[in-house]
Amino acid sequence: MAGLKLKHIYKVYSGGVRAVNDFNLDIKDKSFVVLVGPSGCGKSTTLRMVAGLENITSGQLYIDNNLVNDVESKNRDIAMVFQSYALYPHMTVYQNMGFSLKLRHEKPAIIKEKVLKAAEILEISDLLDRKPKELSGGQRQRVALGRAIVREPNVFLLDEPLSNLDAKLRVQMRTEITKLHEKLQTTFIYVTHDQTEAMTMGDTIVVMNKGFIQQADAPVTLFEDPTNLFVATFLGSPQMNIIECDLVKEGDKYGVKLEGVDSNIVWLKKNTGRQIENSGLDFEKKYLFGIRPDHVKVVEKGIPAHVEAVEQLGDETIIYATIENHKQHIVVKAPLTININSQDDIHLEFLKERVYLFDKDSEYSLIGMPSFNKIPCSLKDNKIVVGSQEVELDEEYVSHILDRAFNEPIFMAIKPEHIELEGNESNRELKAKVEFIEERTNYNIVYVSLEGVNQYLTFRASKERKYNEGDKVSVYLPLDKTYIFDKDDDSLYCREVAYKNTAKAAVSHDKDGNVVISIQGGEKLVYSKEELPDVEDGNYEFVLKQDGCQVVFNKKVAKKMKEKPLTIVNKGKYLTVSCYDEEPQHKTNTVFAKINGFNEYVTFVVENNFSVYKMPKFKIQVPANGFELNKK
Ligand code: ADP
Repeated sequence: MAGLKLKHIYKVYSGGVRAVNDFNLDIKDKSFVVLVGPSGCGKSTTLRMVAGLENITSGQLYIDNNLVNDVESKNRDIAMVFQSYALYPHMTVYQNMGFSLKLRHEKPAIIKEKVLKAAEILEISDLLDRKPKELSGGQRQRVALGRAIVREPNVFLLDEPLSNLDAKLRVQMRTEITKLHEKLQTTFIYVTHDQTEAMTMGDTIVVMNKGFIQQADAPVTLFEDPTNLFVATFLGSPQMNIIECDLVKEGDKYGVKLEGVDSNIVWLKKNTGRQIENSGLDFEKKYLFGIRPDHVKVVEKGIPAHVEAVEQLGDETIIYATIENHKQHIVVKAPLTININSQDDIHLEFLKERVYLFDKDSEYSLIGMPSFNKIPCSLKDNKIVVGSQEVELDEEYVSHILDRAFNEPIFMAIKPEHIELEGNESNRELKAKVEFIEERTNYNIVYVSLEGVNQYLTFRASKERKYNEGDKVSVYLPLDKTYIFDKDDDSLYCREVAYKNTAKAAVSHDKDGNVVISIQGGEKLVYSKEELPDVEDGNYEFVLKQDGCQVVFNKKVAKKMKEKPLTIVNKGKYLTVSCYDEEPQHKTNTVFAKINGFNEYVTFVVENNFSVYKMPKFKIQVPANGFELNKK
């Protein structure tokens, strides 16, 4: 039995494919975690890194609080079950199941005991003498599971184990695997691309897309509070209806006017209005309105709709309709007893309580739990100023902040689940007032205001913890999970220490009057006297600005990135860099590197289409405004 911690895990395959990005997850002992997402999103890669079958490019993997990045697969105490059962055809079921124990030189009596016990759990005791070819698909899959069980691992890893089975057997094996998890009381990590499989089996579902975790939560939470459009539309069948819309406001009431629906405005309930207000509204912009088919009702009087097709399923009816002149398709889930036929004209109503709204650009949900609380703030010495309050930072924290954060608008960013309700040494208190509360199945969402801040801070509170509107409360931010974002949601708080990029340099003028900067122990940079007019000869501290330089692509990398190679035009304005790590963001990539002559390491920011894994050694162009010279 073991819990796992995946901290900032990245996988970059040779050739620069970023399969997994900044994967963070705490997996509790005995839990059943499912990784789900479309093909190619990085699920198997993640599982294979946990198994030790794939190197971790960066980040840390802990099993039972032990760092296992460099521990060999066979010593990780895990067992993996694959999609292809990979049974040995010439061995019996008994031999297949006992084989790994035999390799470990277990005594025959112990092998027998373990195989028989596993066979009993899986109800395959009567198949032990058969060869794989004499088994059905479901039975083979059970043998594959049996082979894992006999090893009594701390963690079970299952990679699409049911995808070779037919639909009926798949549903049956789903329940069997869930039961097996209960019986074995061990941690399971399960990979599937099938959302129903995920939602019915896992206690935590990790939704992935393009190598990034989109959301990790209990199934009901993913359904009620999807953080973005991807999660909202990936889960749920039929899929959530998404309709482009405009926002409208009348007095203090907010509504959405659906694209193609002239006559009707869907008025939002008061708290929903307050939530979207919180996310910074722009009435000029288009938004995306979302409603699940389950939450559209057929009514006497409402939005006029025309039925295009009707599907009678076993226990419900799916209506495919269009609204307002056939411009917009909408799917409705109705009870089986409803009497509606194709080509009928009907009226629809949306359940106000279950309306979603997404930003069209970022695709973040504007309703419910935000993926991050983004609160405007500023930095002052070793403090973050939030409205009228100040949060003390320690030196360690400050050393991770990029210089840019000190002179541009920034936001404190913290996930709702990382807000703590009790004070301790490592977290920081903010005084707040409860504004309103939204009830969910597993928890309540509490919206609080901070003095002097025009935005709510949102967190989850357990159902037992009662809050009332107007309550004065304290919330606490754990510093290690409080980030600093710029306006584009790029993090200015690095996981690595952000270095100040200093080197000793001597400045002289050559015979043509050019300024020559010789970095001690490193390269020379040459600028014309027009570029650096007032610099005197002498010894200086050279400070390379973190965002003042540009990568010079070589031809090969430029081709891969579909960019023009940056040709060297200004000879003498380049430094050679060797990189050891990077932290890619939405728009930028923070690079940690070595440059000859510089103290320790250097940190600088480049555009995010550049990855050091494509070009670990490269040159940077240093313009005259890309550095400072401080007289020694
Ligand atoms: P999933 O399991 O979600 O289908 P994978 O983890 O298998 O996704 O793959 C994630 C990404 O990594 C894909 O773009 C895939 O093409 C790429 N990839 C997987 N294995 C390798 C490999 N050995 N070398 C290079 N790229 C790989």
